[in-house]
Amino acid sequence: MTGTKQTNPSVEPIIGIDLGTTNSLVAYCDERGPRILEGPGGQRLMPSVVRYNLSGGGVEAVGREARDHAVEHPKNTVSSAKRLMGRSVNDVQDDLAYLPYEVVEGGHDTARVKIGDQLISPQEVSAVILSELRVWAEAALGVTVRKTVVTVPAYFDDAQRQATRDAGRIAGLQVVRIVNEPTAAALAYNLGDNPGVGDQGSGIREKKSDGTVSLSTKLNPEVCSSENQPPATSHHPPTQTVAVFDLGGGTFDVSVLRLMKTEQGRVDQVLATAGDTHLGGDDVDRMIVELIQAEVRKQFGEQIAFPASTRQAFRNLAEATKIRLSAEDSAQIEVDLGADKSGGARIYQRTLSREDFNTMIGPWVDRTIDCCRDALRSAKCSVDDIDRVVMVGGSTRIPLVRDRVGGLFETEPYTALNPDEVVALGAAVQGSILAGINRDMLLLDVIPLSLGIETMGGAVSKLIMSNSTIPAQATEMFSTYADGQTNIKVHVLQGERELVSDCRSLGEFELKGIPPMPAGLPKVEVTFLVDANGVLSVQAVEKRSEKRASIQIVPNHGLTRDEVQRMENDSYAHAAQDMAAHRLIDLRNQARLDIRAIEKQLAKVGDEMDAGYRAQVEQHVAEVKAMADSSGVDPDKFHEALDAMDKSTVRLAELAITMTLREEQA
Ligand code: ADP
Ligand code: MG
Repeated sequence: MTGTKQTNPSVEPIIGIDLGTTNSLVAYCDERGPRILEGPGGQRLMPSVVRYNLSGGGVEAVGREARDHAVEHPKNTVSSAKRLMGRSVNDVQDDLAYLPYEVVEGGHDTARVKIGDQLISPQEVSAVILSELRVWAEAALGVTVRKTVVTVPAYFDDAQRQATRDAGRIAGLQVVRIVNEPTAAALAYNLGDNPGVGDQGSGIREKKSDGTVSLSTKLNPEVCSSENQPPATSHHPPTQTVAVFDLGGGTFDVSVLRLMKTEQGRVDQVLATAGDTHLGGDDVDRMIVELIQAEVRKQFGEQIAFPASTRQAFRNLAEATKIRLSAEDSAQIEVDLGADKSGGARIYQRTLSREDFNTMIGPWVDRTIDCCRDALRSAKCSVDDIDRVVMVGGSTRIPLVRDRVGGLFETEPYTALNPDEVVALGAAVQGSILAGINRDMLLLDVIPLSLGIETMGGAVSKLIMSNSTIPAQATEMFSTYADGQTNIKVHVLQGERELVSDCRSLGEFELKGIPPMPAGLPKVEVTFLVDANGVLSVQAVEKRSEKRASIQIVPNHGLTRDEVQRMENDSYAHAAQDMAAHRLIDLRNQARLDIRAIEKQLAKVGDEMDAGYRAQVEQHVAEVKAMADSSGVDPDKFHEALDAMDKSTVRLAELAITMTLREEQA
């Protein structure tokens, strides 16, 4: 057994392709569930861009290479070919202004791209992209690929769908099924496929905080009495109504789907779609480019010219700035425009804050929200009828977009799967169903492996235990270990073992901007919620400052039943050793905290103590310190030493308190 074989040769693989306007991806689903197949250099997204030779019409570049030099080759670089699929020139009048290359009418009322004296059909352009993705897939899987599922927007008509099939045929691929993009997104999340839904009205098991563990240190239980929220009562009817919000590079659509499971299998019904085929992340890039150009002109003179290479650079910079602002509170923009006539450097610099950025894109986000209202209206649904909102498309990474969509639908939208990958993943799931692959994907109504977070010293604090029924919720309070800590990292883990290094890391996020406070004072409430679809939301709130951050994860993604079994067995085999290791970590953390407190007290009243007592305290501290720093210490002895140190310092603590009171009265 070499262990490198990735596919079962007895089943012919059916891949899933998201043929996007801006980017395209390929995915494959086997027993472990769906995964993206990467191209050279670990690329996951392939820009849907093809550059042709100006004279002969041959393909010069595909994907990233073609996109990165698009501005320099406006006449022979074809992007957004999806807009032309199955359409006549008349149909696409509105699009022409956005396309730098020439589009003419071909035969049978179909649009063609004109490059030099070559006429190229949009199907042929798409076929180049599909072929390239097929090469990626064959390299990743190590087998020949002949069949694929391809996704299209829900609003595509028959001609557009047929054109998509034809593109596959030109690429030598059999398109075994065309799937709506929003349906694919729902499939990736297993929506409408929940075992045991409908009887979970009181299913949420809430774990009460039994005392408080901490990210680092124990909180005084009196200070933070358990503040668990009442469990959200969840009721899932056997049919689910889902809104899929897809904001990509150049297009936006929102669909309301009804998902049903019948004896014939899954059925989805598109109740309504709304959107705007000229609304997307490109608009935001353009806004930033315009801002830069206007300010550059203001600073260096109105007459300054921007050649193609500079415009390309602006565009790349604008996109990078936008992406940065999805993760950071501000982004630095710097452009070196070279020397002016008299040799003086011309450097343009500015900082764009998330706040100013949000103000700038506000009206653009408003337009998407208006469309959501339209879609609800034509689906005859109210916000309350929507069970889930799924986020699709790279532009839904923009925090303002997430906030506004969550606000409108009054629910946290699904973002656990990468929004730019979720459609391809769903296409792959559909492919695996058609291929008859038995996906042992852990569609369970219990949580197979415990879920928790990392605490100080590499220990795991479990919030939801294995075999809890879904949905499940747990809340616990944590605090900081270091004084003045303004950022707290929350690392989410899965597994039965006691140490981080023996568990599976699911993801991490940072709670930022906490006002500096002494160690142990911040009150960080961490909530885990696993909903009926098996999606885990982890939220951390610092209660004093109300700063919050969250993450969503699909914990069972990429796990087989066998792996769960193995992780479970491992935990039994190592139980005793794990407990000892965890105990040591706890003792070490406690010792370090106690020593810090004692040292502060010594600094305060040390001079007033009698020398004998002081020496005794210092002796205890030195002993405990040595044990905390040593790796091979016996936990029982350590515990004893810690106890002895605590007992010996009772009088010291009293002295320090008396001193403090005296100071306050003075
Ligand atoms: P499409 O479905 O149109 O092919 P995608 O779903 O791939 O497009 O989305 C591409 C868009 O997402 C681009 O405008 C890109 O700049 C934007 N995007 C990608 N990542 C981020 C991010 N982290 N923050 C904001 N926008 C992003
Ligand atoms: Mg898309």
